[in-house]
Amino acid sequence: MSDRLVTLGKRTDDVRARPAPAADAPRVYVETYGCQMNVADSDLIGSVLADAGYATAAKADEADVILVNTCAVREKAEERVTARAQELGALKRKKPGTVLAIVGCMAEHLKEGLADRAPAVDVIAGPDSYRRLPELLAAARGRDAAKQRQIDVRLDKEETYEGLSGAVGGDGVSGFVTIQRGCDKFCTFCVVPFTRGRERGTPPREVLRQVRELAAAGYREVVLLGQTVNSYAWEDTTFARLLRAVCTVEGLERVRFTSPYPVDFTDDVIAAIAEEPKVCKYVHLPLQSGSDAVLERMRRGYTVEDYRTIVRNLRAAMPDIALSTDILTGFSGETDEDHAMTLQLMRELRFDSAFMFAYSERDLTYAAKKLPDDVPEAVKQKRLAEIIALQEKVSAEVFAAQVGKRERVLVHGPSKRDPAQLMGRTDGFKTVILPTGLGAVGELVDVTIARATMATLFGATP
Ligand code: SF4
Repeated sequence: MSDRLVTLGKRTDDVRARPAPAADAPRVYVETYGCQMNVADSDLIGSVLADAGYATAAKADEADVILVNTCAVREKAEERVTARAQELGALKRKKPGTVLAIVGCMAEHLKEGLADRAPAVDVIAGPDSYRRLPELLAAARGRDAAKQRQIDVRLDKEETYEGLSGAVGGDGVSGFVTIQRGCDKFCTFCVVPFTRGRERGTPPREVLRQVRELAAAGYREVVLLGQTVNSYAWEDTTFARLLRAVCTVEGLERVRFTSPYPVDFTDDVIAAIAEEPKVCKYVHLPLQSGSDAVLERMRRGYTVEDYRTIVRNLRAAMPDIALSTDILTGFSGETDEDHAMTLQLMRELRFDSAFMFAYSERDLTYAAKKLPDDVPEAVKQKRLAEIIALQEKVSAEVFAAQVGKRERVLVHGPSKRDPAQLMGRTDGFKTVILPTGLGAVGELVDVTIARATMATLFGATP
């Protein structure tokens, strides 16, 4: 549930054969904010627009259509897009005729009200409207000033984009496949069920088609995506069955999935992770709070003891499993004691890493309507700082304990900090920096961990 900007100038090409765009084809620039599902959706959008004859622009100022795929999970995420839309509005004024489309969760959340925050917007489209983007953009590109802004924010209980999304995007080594859209859990703080609609699974045949395409295109890893990915269901196919089926696809070395919902870690899911060698022994298990009272107000559907049992079961089946989590601090009614319980549970469970946030109220949600946002901002920030400090300490210890160990690393590409070095990931999703010469992109290499920081491992000679 990160709200960071994840891609700029995202690729909109893919591996499916399609004619090269015409020399005078309109050019689209796609900018993505939010979670991996949005990254996958931007790839899907790129594919839809490429099929409609669009070419890709590398920069916003080279584009005829600027498309911003947005996140609504926190107010901060929306503020970033609002600021960016102002910059893009200025660019539009310099280059009349450019179309600005704002799509995704923020578009769905604010609907036509988005235009108050982003007056330059020409197209507002929700996450279930991507098939119609070519028409919406064509209407916006052809419109005169007197015509209406194009808005399509209908949610669709059936839409899984079957047949459309394929082996696109990613880093060429690890690719995303969305196996589920929407969410039915309705946690009281979360706007996702309102922005992404009801939960629906992608048919298994479509999931396998996409996974096979990725493998055939040389991808070594697939990440199965869903808002509550392990509650996946399609007729009699459960998540555990789907996971095992994906592992049969030849050419793939690793299978990951995110984000699971704690309560849906049933025995068959845990067994599939433990027994299938291709499934990475890494689970992101969003906790949110270590207090039963807060969990109940959040309507998370589990108690602290339930959560402990899930962790115990995962660790009993896979003693070396890596666990990460989400912590949301400062929710309605959270006391100092509740906060202390969260810290205590973090000390006890020792997550490898965590995404940590202060609560911000989202309208439409139950919490916004019924539960006061009564923890002062300064208190939220103080608690968040304590949570981050604790997690940094635990992460540093967990990462330091890896030094001297052998790890199998999948090489993803050049290191961002030093492109002369390579960046890869362990089975447990830890980033490893490798000296050049210690493997090539797309290869699995066995290395010894020479040193560690709280977020990165450094590999040495094989
Ligand atoms: S499970 Fe809860 S927190 Fe996660 S997306 Fe659904 S409603 Fe939001």
